[in-house]
Amino acid sequence: MSERNQHIFDKHPRRAKRYRIIKIRRFILAVIVIALIALLAIFGVKHLLANNTGYNSESGFIKYSDSLFKSIDGDMELYEPTKVQEYGEPMSFATNLPTTGYEGIDKAVADKWASDKKNFEEDNQTVAQGNQVALVAGYESSGTPYDAEGLAVHTFHYEKIDKEESLTEEVDCYNIATKTGGELTLSQMFFGDYESVLKQEAEAYLTENYKDNLTEDYASKIDSASGNFILTEAGVRFFWNSGTVVTEDQGAIAMTIPYEKFDGIIREDIGKRIIDPSKPMVALTYDDGPSVDDSTDRILNVMEEYGVVCTFFELGERVDEEGDRGAQLLQRELKLGCEVGTHSYSHPNLYELGTDGLQEQAQKSIDAITKAAGQPPTIMRPPYGNGNDEIAQIFGLPSINWDVDTLDWSSRNADAVLEEVHKMGNLDGSIVLMHSIYSSSAEATERLVPELVEQGYQLVTVSELLQYKYGYTPIEVKHYGYYFRDGGEDGE
Ligand code: ZN
Repeated sequence: MSERNQHIFDKHPRRAKRYRIIKIRRFILAVIVIALIALLAIFGVKHLLANNTGYNSESGFIKYSDSLFKSIDGDMELYEPTKVQEYGEPMSFATNLPTTGYEGIDKAVADKWASDKKNFEEDNQTVAQGNQVALVAGYESSGTPYDAEGLAVHTFHYEKIDKEESLTEEVDCYNIATKTGGELTLSQMFFGDYESVLKQEAEAYLTENYKDNLTEDYASKIDSASGNFILTEAGVRFFWNSGTVVTEDQGAIAMTIPYEKFDGIIREDIGKRIIDPSKPMVALTYDDGPSVDDSTDRILNVMEEYGVVCTFFELGERVDEEGDRGAQLLQRELKLGCEVGTHSYSHPNLYELGTDGLQEQAQKSIDAITKAAGQPPTIMRPPYGNGNDEIAQIFGLPSINWDVDTLDWSSRNADAVLEEVHKMGNLDGSIVLMHSIYSSSAEATERLVPELVEQGYQLVTVSELLQYKYGYTPIEVKHYGYYFRDGGEDGE
């Protein structure tokens, strides 16, 4: 209080009282302003990242990486994180990753970080001193109403080179079957077109929440979130990596769609069908369908009766020709938990086609299956087993052959089919080739399935076999060929 004011107040005590009230009001106002700034700092972390100045010291990096961990919106309560922050010049690393207690998942997360780190070190070998580059990974996790948990690992890639800063964020998703600790495959979670729900919801969500930050081609990038989701308490939480639908400074963004929106599309039995990775498993596969006669239905009847699954590699042309009946068959396959793959559109030798021809086979078969089944195929098998990485990439799917050829297409005899299978002895980890278009193959299935179940085999889909038996996570777009046991490394 100035001397002059003091003087006035001495003469006018009521003014002094009013002044004290004004002071209190100012104090309260200041508190509110500070609180608002603090709230902004907490909720506006992502936006501040765009204007941050990074770090120049070890303590600065600790603070900076902590702020990145905190910028992940989701919950972290489910697992115990371990924080490791390694400052270096110019290269720094920080992780705040969980131990889930599920061996396969922990290994997958650790392997992913190790390979990211190795690539990062290689990419940044030549970065000069005085610059900063950092790789930082944190996570969010959630329980679900199912026998499942969701884990999303966020990886940040920061660099300040010649004072130019950039920060990108990518998300890797793991949906864990809690009873087995294995990763849930797409067909274990959905049997309908979950992508159309994503598309419907995303447009409104993005324009409402990120109106000023949408990228020019955001509409065409919306589907980059398909497959990139975790199940949570509230719904299916999809992620877009930074720079896809919104500008890079927004980081990766998420949208949770409530489960009600997936009514009739999401499985109710998620995590219920137990696959034990330590027990023998085999994948029965059926090419060239759906059948004109009742063979496909007979195969499905067996699957339903024994509560087991298999994989169908369908021909797009056959699906189209069967019309509504074909659609019903494909939907029944998915509903039972079977996997639906593509076997091309019209069964050509893919080695003899150019890029245009391959693209046509891929597009037309994927379209036919998507239209009929309500969801796209999740895997492919080239006709005659004639595939390679290039073909797999054009199809945008993992490509796989078999290791047990029953020769059902040539013998057309159930006894002969069973004999070929028996010749193999141990079937653990095998993929058995049959065709869903012969009644002899349907008969062989009717006899083979009870036999395999009796012997203690778990009958799984091809994607399940790759994940649970061979630990491919996620399934890469490449040709596993006949050598899926070695990751398809030996090519064709
Ligand atoms: Zn075929």
